[in-house]
Amino acid sequence: MADTAEYDCDVLLGADFLIASAPPEAGISGHHVVEDAALAVSGGRITAAGRRSDLEGLRAKRRLELGRSLVMPGLVNAHTHIAMTFLRGWADDLPLAEWLTRHIFVKERRLTAEIVELGALIGCAELIRTGCTAFADMYLFEDAVAAAVDRAGLRCLLGEAIFAFATPASASAEEAADRVRGQAERFRGHGRLRVAVMPHSVYTTDAAILRSSLRLSEELGLPLHLHVAETAREAEDCRRAHGKGPVAYCRDLGLLRPTTTLIHCVVPDDEELDMIAESGARVAHNPRSNLKLGSGVAPVPAMLRRGILPGLGTDGAASNNALNMFAEMNACALLHKGHNLDPTLCPAAAVLDMATAGSAAALCRPELGRIFPGGPADLVALDLRSPNLLPLYSPFSHIVYAAGGFEVRLSMVDGRVLYEDGAFTTLDLPQLCNEAEKLKQWVLKTA
Ligand SMILES: [Zn+2]
Repeated sequence: MADTAEYDCDVLLGADFLIASAPPEAGISGHHVVEDAALAVSGGRITAAGRRSDLEGLRAKRRLELGRSLVMPGLVNAHTHIAMTFLRGWADDLPLAEWLTRHIFVKERRLTAEIVELGALIGCAELIRTGCTAFADMYLFEDAVAAAVDRAGLRCLLGEAIFAFATPASASAEEAADRVRGQAERFRGHGRLRVAVMPHSVYTTDAAILRSSLRLSEELGLPLHLHVAETAREAEDCRRAHGKGPVAYCRDLGLLRPTTTLIHCVVPDDEELDMIAESGARVAHNPRSNLKLGSGVAPVPAMLRRGILPGLGTDGAASNNALNMFAEMNACALLHKGHNLDPTLCPAAAVLDMATAGSAAALCRPELGRIFPGGPADLVALDLRSPNLLPLYSPFSHIVYAAGGFEVRLSMVDGRVLYEDGAFTTLDLPQLCNEAEKLKQWVLKTA
């Protein structure tokens, strides 16, 4: 048996192209392309990244030569409800209120931890398959999500949703907050799973719940995520009830801080955008969900002008219906050009920044979404032999405008390969296919 001391690294990865990055201290993501590249991984960390010729002398336990491939940082999904795959395609093309009350809430009222875990496993498989290595999740029964994510090998910021009303998971907001405490205790020191406080939204909670959520996040040192200003209707209702828009309402409750992420922000006014910029709060932009639900277009160019780099998220599979960050980047880049009649807005490199550094900041994990020596070994490789990626002038352009996500041939989290050339290493896809049928039967039977 060989002694590990004989090796310089666990894995030495070679590829024709690499997107390397500046370390988080640099502030900006600083993604840049290295041709004829290599990367060394040891103990879950990237130990060296550069030209093949500089690294080829390293003695590696495993050499992984990917040839005509692009190695890039694993994408980070700033907002989803991963377990909601069970409602993918169940109810489309409906007005928001009808969709929610008649088709989504009726199923969720009967939700069980088993359904959540199974739905989450399918969601994790999709994330791994399409190049996402870390995500922020809000749902009920987050312990079941944690079990699925842990098995899948991904990273996650877990948030048990807190509502003003009873759910199948918790009889009250206090009980949901107790679950958050328990999870924070259980996952303390876990390398891949972290916990956040996630009151669902302004309109499904109240001032007392939002204040106590803030206290809990401060007491335990956890990030806070909530849906804010998703629709014009929500903003109008908030103005009627509180005399101000939802972002201003959150600001006055003290919620806007650098560790807070505002999910959606489709309809903030200019003053509210200034409040976000001044506070350092984060935004999770979910363009495909906002479009599909007819909610509108978030003012992302106005955010960028104020120095707010939003993260990018898919939202759940009931409103997207994909959990594919490549599709999300593509939608983001096209949407803001078309909506503002300006093709210079949201260029490819800026959109990749959103899906990496922007989302990582929303997870309060600035070291994610970057490939740099000393950083976590969370990365993916695209197969550049795919016809839709030929020829190649700019990797940034292909990532945002040409790739569909299924060119991913390798996915690695924490130095561990989760997917390689058609095979999942942690998940049993044929078994998930069978179990998806069980989910479908449950949905059909649940009135
Ligand atoms: Zn959401």
